[in-house]
Amino acid sequence: MKIVNKIYINGMFVTPHGAEIFDVINPSNNQKIGEVTLADEIDAKNAIAAAKVAFKSFSKSTVATRIDYLRKLRTAVEKRQQDFIDIMIEEYGGTRQFVTMSSKHTGAWFDSMIEVLQTYKFEETINSSFVKLQPVGVVGIITPWNSSNSSICSKVATAIAAGCTVVIKPSEMSSLQTQVLMEAFHDAGLPEGIINFVTGLGNVVGTELTSNPDVSKISFTGSTAVGKLIAKIAVDTMKRVTLELGGKSPNIILDDADLEKTIPMAVYGAYMNSGQACIAPTRLLVPENKLDKVNAIAKATVDKIIVNLPQNEDTHIGPMVSVKQFDRVQSYIKLGLEEGAVLLAGGEGKPEGLEEGNFVKATIFTNVNNKMRIAQEEIFGPVLSIIPYKTEDEAIEIANDSPYGLAAYISSADPERAMHVASQIDAGRICINGFNHDPLVPFGGFKQSGIGREYGTYGLEAYLEPKAILK
Ligand code: NAD
Repeated sequence: MKIVNKIYINGMFVTPHGAEIFDVINPSNNQKIGEVTLADEIDAKNAIAAAKVAFKSFSKSTVATRIDYLRKLRTAVEKRQQDFIDIMIEEYGGTRQFVTMSSKHTGAWFDSMIEVLQTYKFEETINSSFVKLQPVGVVGIITPWNSSNSSICSKVATAIAAGCTVVIKPSEMSSLQTQVLMEAFHDAGLPEGIINFVTGLGNVVGTELTSNPDVSKISFTGSTAVGKLIAKIAVDTMKRVTLELGGKSPNIILDDADLEKTIPMAVYGAYMNSGQACIAPTRLLVPENKLDKVNAIAKATVDKIIVNLPQNEDTHIGPMVSVKQFDRVQSYIKLGLEEGAVLLAGGEGKPEGLEEGNFVKATIFTNVNNKMRIAQEEIFGPVLSIIPYKTEDEAIEIANDSPYGLAAYISSADPERAMHVASQIDAGRICINGFNHDPLVPFGGFKQSGIGREYGTYGLEAYLEPKAILK
């Protein structure tokens, strides 16, 4: 049994004032594997106070000092890579394949900010005026369970680069990962109060961070519903907000694309992180006259997808994070059938032999109409909708007919044609012919997928306040 009974404030591991216990459940078998003592508002207030004091000197630190801190954080986090992998598998059922890949990228969040700092100009002259970009203040970082470590590392790296101090509230379902991250950040040896962790519930610790006047900015990654709540409360103290929210990303296969290559990639992509990924391409838009061939290739691909225990090397889809998430995905599969979509693979219920965990069958609906709820709403599980289109213009219209606009994917034999389509899609990140990643390129959503951008220079500027001095 793992016990997490400390939070991290002002450079020290302290016993929280909060006393509520949260059970950590292994989603592969629904056995209890740990207990977490949840922090409360008083703990959050203490952490904010520590961050406020530390901000006074850290906000005046040099770029060289910040680069030094980023290097130390990177080294400390990299040292714990294997611990992260083991715990992510156990705690949220992340597949070994996925968490190994995502853990390998963790150091890149610090490297990319070091790179930005090497050329970024915090001061400039416009006409005869002096313009200075100064750190915004104490930042409240609130993160989800599906990408806990990478969200925290990316946000902390940016805050440190800007000269901001932070109070981090990870998901309560990521408490074991948080324990390792707290230890790693402590080992990095930064001055006290720059980084603080408060493990607690969203409506307790999260609400305190969102409403406390000493917090200047909230950087949130999570659901659109919670993002809206945060934005509403944050406006009372006029906090800056960066909101990285949900998605229902289209994957447009143009009629000149090689189906044998793109359709298997589309199916595997939709199931990334067991379908629990904000950027997952869950709407597959294909030419109507090629639907039969697409269905055949998609079916042959899904037959090779392995749903099994996440620790196995060859597992593609592990369990859903919780019983609640399992039930939610099941309800959408039921809804798809009721809405008249054609079930190509998977369906309701658990795969044979995996009844004890929150496992869902790799599911594909075809002949989906984009107006159906399964095409409009974020399911957050391994459920792919294949949507036929007649013309390129119609494909673009369907892609944009969504409340979300986080990511989009386009496959074509002609890169210029793909670029032309990309220019008409309302999404913050569009990948052509693959699933590319670049930590220096802005990331964030159009429409209800969020407000603001993270990563690289755009991300840094969201932690800075421009001050103009006119002489
Ligand atoms: P969630 O919104 O339920 O929770 C996210 C965080 O917010 C958690 O730490 C939670 O405790 C906290 N929270 C809950 N209520 C709160 C409140 N009232 N005030 C302040 N904080 C509160 O999301 P989740 O289920 O943990 O994660 C899945 C969601 O996150 C999906 O919608 C997914 O698309 C989204 N997501 C988006 C991105 C992105 O970069 N756009 C990345 C990963 C996940």
